[in-house]
Amino acid sequence: MIGIYGGTFNPIHYGHLRTALEIKEILNLSEIRFIPCYQPVLKDQPFVSATARFNMVELAIETQAGFICDRRELVRQGASYMVDTLASLRMSFQQQPLLLLLGMDAFGSLTQWSRWQTLFDYAHIVVMSRPENPQIALTDFFKQRLIKDIAPLKQHTCGKLYFQKVTPLAISSTEIRKLFLQENSPRFLMPDNVINYIEQYKIYRNFNADQ
Ligand code: ATP
Repeated sequence: MIGIYGGTFNPIHYGHLRTALEIKEILNLSEIRFIPCYQPVLKDQPFVSATARFNMVELAIETQAGFICDRRELVRQGASYMVDTLASLRMSFQQQPLLLLLGMDAFGSLTQWSRWQTLFDYAHIVVMSRPENPQIALTDFFKQRLIKDIAPLKQHTCGKLYFQKVTPLAISSTEIRKLFLQENSPRFLMPDNVINYIEQYKIYRNFNADQ
């Protein structure tokens, strides 16, 4: 089973990395593919180039076996629709279950994504939820796909919805960009080698932290 971790990664931080590792181990995934978007669809276009965001992901995961940085959204360019990305992954991995990993915030906006129902034709969706698991009201579309244990994720290549509890880490890229702007340290929120890269290229100086 392959995990798909999409995001803007502006920049990548331990909230991304720790949840990915927990999911990989709990669900026994063979790999997790981090896929930095080229152009976010529901967020403003970041000031930071897709190449710099990709490079930061590569640095962050270089020592973790089974973590892969996937370039396909950068190569494709244009608006990074996840449904197109999953279609392309399905061509590459025809027989394997694909698990699209989403944080609760991303799942909350899922019905605004382009052709969101079609995502389930290519992959399962695994929502990385908090231990207290807030009661979210699911529509019938989601209830029909909801599973309570992991066996069906292995038995089917796509189509299921599963909530996996992970350690909550209230770290966000937005808050990290603010720290850089204020010339405060983001240490222990993200890997040191990514911080060094950001400082070397002065990536978050003089930017609007909201972007
Ligand atoms: P921003 O603050 O710029 O909106 P972000 O920190 O939310 O960014 P993204 O790259 O937009 O990071 O997120 C990619 C994916 O990672 C989404 O599915 C999001 O829900 C998830 N994610 C981000 N931060 C965390 C976190 N601290 N814990 C769990 N999942 C997270």
